Amino acid sequence: MRVIAIDGPAGSGKSTLAQAVADRLGLECLDTGAMYRAVAFAVLRAGGDPSDDDFAAAVARTIDVTVDAGQVVVDGVDATVEIRGSSVDRAVSLVAANPEVRAELVVRQREWVRRRGGGVVEGRDIGTVVFPDAEVKVHLVADPAVRAQRRVDQGGTPVTGDGAGRTYDEAVESVATDIARRDRIDSTRQASPLLKAPGAVVIDTTGLTFDETVEQVMRLL
Ligand code: C5P
Repeated sequence: MRVIAIDGPAGSGKSTLAQAVADRLGLECLDTGAMYRAVAFAVLRAGGDPSDDDFAAAVARTIDVTVDAGQVVVDGVDATVEIRGSSVDRAVSLVAANPEVRAELVVRQREWVRRRGGGVVEGRDIGTVVFPDAEVKVHLVADPAVRAQRRVDQGGTPVTGDGAGRTYDEAVESVATDIARRDRIDSTRQASPLLKAPGAVVIDTTGLTFDETVEQVMRLL
């Protein structure tokens, strides 16, 4: 079974890289962050507190979530847009620090790959926990300011003209604050913190073009 693991912090370029590598290899690609976001979304929708561990664990165990070709459906509701919103941004790292939520989602991630006979899987703990025997493990990093800029350029955050009344710089600053907060929680939590996996190759995408990054991974393969 061919599994490629791509880990790294928010905005390091994991999703676009994972999709490009998957296309080249004729594999499907799984965005595990979308699964954690789906649980956070369902917790909020049920009126729950994201730091209530028992509540979030119960939601993770019972939620019906499909992540397919960029579309995320949670209990029959298309949540593709909402899971990228600021309330989920604020809640997701709290939910993802919950070991019971992680245990449940890891089972589902392995099952997703097993059913497809392989895949390109991106997240924070893919090389360390979910698929430690992946054929290639990539640990993506990039300068925090560049990561915030990329997130805004991808259109994830409203800027002036679409109702939010924020300038580009204000949007970048607000995304940078969110990214720094999530990085801190994701890297210091007890359960599967974001760490470079043994055997993972670090690629710093700060000064690389997208094509150069894809080429580096293809060379590793
Ligand atoms: O990748 P993305 O930024 O959408 O992930 C959202 C959040 O989900 C991360 O900040 C992290 O808290 C959590 N996550 C995780 N483990 C993964 C993928 C995402 O803890 N494998």
